[in-house]
Amino acid sequence: MLNSGHEMTEGEGSAFRTRLKHLFADWKVRPFTPAENLFPSDLLKSLRQIGALDALLSVEEGGLGLASPRDGGRLLSLLLRRTGYLSLSLGRCLEGHVNVVRLVALYGTPEQRYSLATTLKNGVLAGIWVTDGEPSVRLRKDGETYRLSGIKGFASGVSEVGLALITATTEQEESVMLLVPTTDPARRRPGPGKLTGMQASGTGAYDFSGLTVSAQDILGSAGDYLRQPEFSAGAWRGSAVALGAVDRLVDLLREELLARKRADNPHQLCRIGEAMILQKTASLWVEQAAQAAGDCPGLSPEEVTATVNLARLAVERAALELITLVQRGLGLSAFVKGRAVEQVMRDLATYLRQPAPDEALTEGAAWFVRHDWPEGGL
Ligand SMILES: Cc1cc2nc3c(=O)[nH]c(=O)nc-3n(C[C@H](O)[C@H](O)[C@H](O)COP(=O)(O)OP(=O)(O)OC[C@H]3O[C@@H](n4cnc5c(N)ncnc54)[C@H](O)[C@@H]3O)c2cc1C
Repeated sequence: MLNSGHEMTEGEGSAFRTRLKHLFADWKVRPFTPAENLFPSDLLKSLRQIGALDALLSVEEGGLGLASPRDGGRLLSLLLRRTGYLSLSLGRCLEGHVNVVRLVALYGTPEQRYSLATTLKNGVLAGIWVTDGEPSVRLRKDGETYRLSGIKGFASGVSEVGLALITATTEQEESVMLLVPTTDPARRRPGPGKLTGMQASGTGAYDFSGLTVSAQDILGSAGDYLRQPEFSAGAWRGSAVALGAVDRLVDLLREELLARKRADNPHQLCRIGEAMILQKTASLWVEQAAQAAGDCPGLSPEEVTATVNLARLAVERAALELITLVQRGLGLSAFVKGRAVEQVMRDLATYLRQPAPDEALTEGAAWFVRHDWPEGGL
């Protein structure tokens, strides 16, 4: 687990919480804009203005240490959840940004940590692009330097991200992480095709072919990216973002039923109740996973991984069930393009496609089939 030294004070934490609360209240009432393929730059700017991006850095670097939380992940979870409510696309990008900060804090040299902090304080959005395109990204030694080849195929915020953490396969067939600037427009490629949802995330591809990097750009050692529990445990943050969209769908369901004077119908009341149960279930799982992934004494890496894996699947299931409920509850009006509810459902259904869900479920089950839950929960 990470040990970031100093912690934010209670006052700093509560001041940040207040700023986030005001931002959320302000953005929540803004009219819905149906231009779904526009990157949410204004919301990102607002998050920057309240110090949300700087807050991720460690206290020593001038932040609040939010990316390596000591509070059971509560404040980071709130930031991700609120961002996911306002824009799943930005939530996805913010989560990637947090992941980069964490991995550099875990595996980076002091120089790499300093360099990242300086870059991010200059307003750069970082991305984590590991999913390969065709051909996959490889790294080979070229005299004193290294040369990259290949394409990252699912690159969120491809036109916005200024620095990416990528994985590359070496000549020894090992996987290494690298920190690479990604500001060359000529290297941007169209993504995997037009996605049903999440278009505002600007998911494209980036061609690294011919780019020269040095040993200082390599982060950690071979295999670090997949090292547990960090590799799987980080998934709780993605679930926190999804939970934000769940919150929004529940609100949209209630608001529309009230506006159409259908909320008191017993069938609709059942759906509202079930929607709230799904929302709370997802929220409790996210809380549990955030705690497990944080500084939770006494949990083995296997238990952390298993807990977060099950949490990921629980949130996915709750979200998918909620989408069905909303469609049944609102009927055709939930299928009208240009309406918030329709877009949030499409974004959420797309967002929920995370890698290897079967494996996450069965690996979680494989641990808990022989181990009890921690007494009294976490
Ligand atoms: C909007 C968006 C933005 C994204 N941004 C980024 C980004 O910035 N960086 C990045 O790196 N990636 C990004 N991705 C990619 C993402 O991280 C996942 O790789 C991708 O969503 C995987 O989804 P999938 O459903 O195809 O997963 P898969 O893992 O392919 O799962 C699909 C199905 O196949 C099953 N399955 C998986 N493996 C096997 C196997 N070996 N044999 C048999 N069955 C198998 C699964 O259990 C599941 O049922 C993004 C994706 C989206 C949708």
